[in-house]
Amino acid sequence: MLGCRGVSRVPPARASWKQAQRQCRPEAVQPFGGGSNAAQGVAVTHSATSFSRAWPEDEIGTQLLITDTDASPTEEACWDQCQQTSMALRLDGKQLAAKLEARLQQQIQTGLAAAGRSPGLAVLRVGDDPASAVYVRNKEKACARIGVESFGSHLPANASQQEVLTAIRALNADQRVDGILLQLPLPEGLDETPLLAEIDPDKDADGLHTLNLGRLLKGEQGPRSCTPAGVMVMLRDQGIDPAGKRAVVVGRSILVGQPMALMLQAANATVTVAHSRTQDLASITRQAEILVVAAGRPEMIGADHITPGCVVVDVGIHRRPEGGLCGDVRAEELEPVAAALSPVPGGVGPMTVTMLLVNTVVAWCRRHQVALDLSDLVV
Ligand code: NAP
Repeated sequence: MLGCRGVSRVPPARASWKQAQRQCRPEAVQPFGGGSNAAQGVAVTHSATSFSRAWPEDEIGTQLLITDTDASPTEEACWDQCQQTSMALRLDGKQLAAKLEARLQQQIQTGLAAAGRSPGLAVLRVGDDPASAVYVRNKEKACARIGVESFGSHLPANASQQEVLTAIRALNADQRVDGILLQLPLPEGLDETPLLAEIDPDKDADGLHTLNLGRLLKGEQGPRSCTPAGVMVMLRDQGIDPAGKRAVVVGRSILVGQPMALMLQAANATVTVAHSRTQDLASITRQAEILVVAAGRPEMIGADHITPGCVVVDVGIHRRPEGGLCGDVRAEELEPVAAALSPVPGGVGPMTVTMLLVNTVVAWCRRHQVALDLSDLVV
């Protein structure tokens, strides 16, 4: 159904596989739902131009355009598994994030002499929300891993609007800081809108400043919202090109749904946005070749919501009452039906943090005229 570089659950005739030029990377693919035996999973990715994913009865979609000439024994094993199993390609955000962190680290090393200092990210936290404390700690750890300096500020829960404004202004003026993030939610009594507006748009690591959302709308350069940008990079990494595809985004928040729709549209998808007032949601989502779900409703999307071969990105993240995490989709139902599926956890979440780092490092490169080797990560 969908043209992308990646894996077809339904491979082409073996002869065409043998004849085609290909470059099989079986190690890059893991079975969806975890585990270490790649052979259980979809089994192969192809760093080639495109493939069409289809069901056995749909011969139209079964060509693979692959680059390579002969299969190794491992690839042959993958291929055999490919024919025996039907699992969605796992859009592994955790693995990709680790790969991108290594690139960011390298970019920082390369630019350090010219810039004369490391990139800096300031996370401003107000109050004692325990989840925020964990998020901030994770962001600081990610910074430390790649060589970004953290300038965390923590104000008490009873900080006034003026005190938070003053803290933001100080970070705007701080020459060591390239990215600023105001950790949400804020304690009651604080109005986030004017506070977010106070962040220097060029230091807006979260990409949520009104100016940056406007830049996105107009197709101008600027920091992008981290979660949707992470989704775009994830799709790009797998060669899933939205151009000409029907994309459906479930959710229209400023944080995820709206910028996601704009980014997909900028990538030439034909985009429909669904929301809580959408009638007959399943009839809309079944039109999707790419479905991004950001509704904040645990496991609301099932197999009956998609057309086989759809690429599904699950943005939702929820803690189950019985323990563990789940997303907005019923992963077990979708896994045998979708062409690709992002897991929760380990999908969009790690990419969100990585895009925060990307925004910071890109801002640092621009401020210091450091040659940017990350253009493929700029959405
Ligand atoms: P949000 O602000 O609550 O927005 C939810 C959106 O979904 C709204 O537009 C809402 O429609 C729509 N919606 C709600 N119920 C629906 C339904 N039954 N059918 C169709 N649409 C429905 O949430 P958000 O901030 O965008 O986040 C969405 C989810 O992503 C949450 O689970 C959040 O935790 C997760 N998230 C994950 C990451 C990450 O890094 N993995 C980052 C951000 C968010 P209305 O506009 O009509 O109310």
